Amino acid sequence: MPASREKGDTVPIKVTFYGGVRTVTGSMHMVANTDTRMIIDCGLFQGRREEFYKRNSNFPFDPATIDFCVLSHAHIDHSGNIPNLIKNGFVGRVITTEATKDLCGSMLPDSGHIQEEDAKYVTKIRKRKGLPAVKPLYTREDAEKALENIEGHPYREPITLDGGIKVTFYDAGHVLGSATPLIEVPDGGSTVKIAYAVDLGRKHIPILKDPEVPPEIDYLFLESTYGGRLHSSIDEAKERLAQVVGSTVDRGGKIIIPSFALERTQEIAYFLSQLLAEDRIPDIPVYVDSPLAVNVTKVFRRHPECFDEEMHETLENGVDPFGTGRIQYITDVEQSKQLNFDDSPMVIISASGMCEAGRILHHLRNNIGDPKNTVLIVGYMAKNTLGRRIVERHERVKIFGEEHALRADVEVMNAFSAHADRQNLLDYALRLKGQVKKIFIVHGDEDQSEKLHELLLEHGLPSHFPEEKEEFELS
Ligand SMILES: [Zn+2]
Ligand SMILES: [Zn+2]
Repeated sequence: MPASREKGDTVPIKVTFYGGVRTVTGSMHMVANTDTRMIIDCGLFQGRREEFYKRNSNFPFDPATIDFCVLSHAHIDHSGNIPNLIKNGFVGRVITTEATKDLCGSMLPDSGHIQEEDAKYVTKIRKRKGLPAVKPLYTREDAEKALENIEGHPYREPITLDGGIKVTFYDAGHVLGSATPLIEVPDGGSTVKIAYAVDLGRKHIPILKDPEVPPEIDYLFLESTYGGRLHSSIDEAKERLAQVVGSTVDRGGKIIIPSFALERTQEIAYFLSQLLAEDRIPDIPVYVDSPLAVNVTKVFRRHPECFDEEMHETLENGVDPFGTGRIQYITDVEQSKQLNFDDSPMVIISASGMCEAGRILHHLRNNIGDPKNTVLIVGYMAKNTLGRRIVERHERVKIFGEEHALRADVEVMNAFSAHADRQNLLDYALRLKGQVKKIFIVHGDEDQSEKLHELLLEHGLPSHFPEEKEEFELS
């Protein structure tokens, strides 16, 4: 205890920024007072393999000492290390929304499967060099076991936890089930209110409701993925999608869309089925080739509480918003392989979103060498991922350990982004001017975070740009 503090004072609430700090992936932060230690998010850090293992397998604290975990949404860079947290001794509750809990039911076991496949691949290479086998970060079974700890709660209903801590989920409008949790921690006679807008969506995203701002906030964690950039409007996204499909079909090519299985796939399917119904694109086959995306789409159907009015209207009119009938959803491996032998124009939407694993790798391998085809990028690509190398139009890229020439057209559309842009983030922060004591800028590549930090300071907002593992006392 510091010398300046009198005996009998309470120990202040402290936050520690453990992950997703000055980088996009691996979100994880701790909030602690004398009695309770909780973490917000427990995401996978994504990047080069060696660093991936090192960062994700070594927790900077003893997981057994954590009382509970608050989970903002199901994206793997926020939820993906929960199975490992439990494997390493965490026995507490994971508190999240109902839709996020359901999504984790598909996404975490899928992530476990990816880890197992990756470990097999690495082991094969190591064996050739006479090196011992490696173990996966966690297995599908570990992930399935972890699901038992996850609790789903409705939006806007406070959940009371040990130590009088309250958690309330407000809609973040980012992906299905996404939330801005408001965490209220008792502090002597008062309460400290911490909100976590990581990730934060934006208005008019298809399917979802617009983001909500919790009523009172003392401290705000704010994402900054696009802290230095502005998006074009989502209405333009549909127009541009039509153009890209049209021009690729004119060349006789295929449109390959690497897409996050969660949200982006459903949005693209939603727009493509509208464009087909409106006769605005040629009548070519559209495939969603990802067992995970197929399962996630089923979860969407179970959570109308997350839908906006337009989506409810579509459903009331008896139209399937995900285009069943016009869009073919593939889970079978053989059916997936058949697409390789068909040279006619088609759209293939497949995961993973950053092209790091999954069936998208086969489709890229088969199609990126042909200038007739288009790789349509509709999501964020983190540094050191195959997706980022495609965005940067490297002449040659490695897929399954082999180099391939990148000759296909690459189209990048940020208009689909489910993240708030620079203006949206500023507007959100300005609504809190006068009440918020500090805004912690996290979840962004360093240049983007810094740009947002400077922008907020220019507007007289109390922005703070933490370092990794920095501790900050709240009062
Ligand atoms: Zn997210
Ligand atoms: Zn994120």
